[in-house]
Amino acid sequence: LWGQAREELQKIVGADSFSTWIEPLRLTGVSDGTATIACPTRFLSDWVSRHYSDDILKVLDRMGGPVQRLSFETRSPTARQTAAPAARRPAPPRPAGEEELAAPLDSRFTFENFVVGKPNELAHAAARRVAEGGPVTFNPLFLYGGVGLGKTHLMHAIAREIQARQPEARVLYLSAEQFMYRFVQALRDRTVMDFKELFRTVSVLMVDDVQFIAGKDSTQEEFFHTFNTLVDQGKQIVISADRAPGEIKDMEERIKSRLQCGLVVDLHPTDYELRLGILQSKTDSFRTQYPGLQIAPGVLEFLAHRITSNVRVLEGALQRLFAFASLMGREITLDMTQECLADILRANDRKVSIEEIQRKVAEHYNIRLADMIGPKRVRTVARPRQIAMYLAKQMTSRSLPEIGRRFGGRDHTTIMHGVKKIEELRGADRSLAEDIDLLRRLLEA
Ligand code: ADP
Ligand code: MG
Repeated sequence: LWGQAREELQKIVGADSFSTWIEPLRLTGVSDGTATIACPTRFLSDWVSRHYSDDILKVLDRMGGPVQRLSFETRSPTARQTAAPAARRPAPPRPAGEEELAAPLDSRFTFENFVVGKPNELAHAAARRVAEGGPVTFNPLFLYGGVGLGKTHLMHAIAREIQARQPEARVLYLSAEQFMYRFVQALRDRTVMDFKELFRTVSVLMVDDVQFIAGKDSTQEEFFHTFNTLVDQGKQIVISADRAPGEIKDMEERIKSRLQCGLVVDLHPTDYELRLGILQSKTDSFRTQYPGLQIAPGVLEFLAHRITSNVRVLEGALQRLFAFASLMGREITLDMTQECLADILRANDRKVSIEEIQRKVAEHYNIRLADMIGPKRVRTVARPRQIAMYLAKQMTSRSLPEIGRRFGGRDHTTIMHGVKKIEELRGADRSLAEDIDLLRRLLEA
């Protein structure tokens, strides 16, 4: 149960928050509607119960609960939580605790695996430059852009490259959330001096998603001092955020202006070519994992056209498709792609409105638009109406009751019935299936 719940929670809170807050938790039991969660520290349990209780409850309840309450218990962790055995510690002595401070680097996030296109070439070039070392040129390097566009990927690539070129350099990469967590922990444990010492002796500091500490006053303050000390010592700093420094709300002006004093570069939303390039590169790397995989021509192009939200979604779609195809032992065709990724494709399709669907379908079947929402029950009107309902369900993210409202205030069960009917007919009636595909293509164009 907990394993599944954790997966769900990771989706809800995101990978970074998950690894900081949820990962250390254990579900130790459920009884009388109360789920008991073990936390390694008091601080963690306070934080989690304040910020993530609702999410955890929701997920546990959905997984079969019924769970109405959470109870947190603090269990002292077994001595140290770091997994690395002492013998594997690198040779140069490091201040105690640094391994616990740094976040692990994802081995897939390398420069080699980063596909460069127009939208990210500047960010990539700047990241390369910083990674290649030499005199500190851009300090700080500030990378920003929307979610899933490759900020974390580039940061890990920089950290890895610097570490490879200068094994003695102390590169500290962590998320702003982890920075805050450690800082608050240090305050609580009265080890702030150690904390400061640790941060001020690194050669390169990399803080991901810095927007997280906006509004968190004491953490901001500490971050600012750390930042200034390091810059004054000529140490490289790399920062990322989901928006430009000037746009971060609840961040002190002096911090914002310091964040901008180096080089600020942004990652633009992907374009078609970049998406296709990424899909091709991911496909190549998946091939070792799924030998014998066959992909029909046009599938990658279709995905690059249709999934425009962000690279993470694109990657997830591809992964699911490959897993599905290998499970079924079938070639990946356009049909399979549409079926297997229906939900993702739909979510990327908010552009098509129910009104457009009604108009196109009415046009196609030569009926009046008013009949789409009207009460007529004759087959020549009712069938096209059902097709429009079906397309509305498939192509928009509207719920059944919402669709019902747009179809002249029909009940959601009527819509459901219509959708089911067309689904059935579609399987049996070839010309209807072709009709629907045509309508869909017209609507997508
Ligand atoms: P962000 O930190 O900006 O939200 P990530 O760096 O976590 O985004 O990227 C999301 C996913 O997309 C990662 O798996 C990453 O490897 C992949 N990705 C993003 N941009 C690229 C790119 N240009 N080439 C290859 N993979 C990419
Ligand atoms: Mg990120």
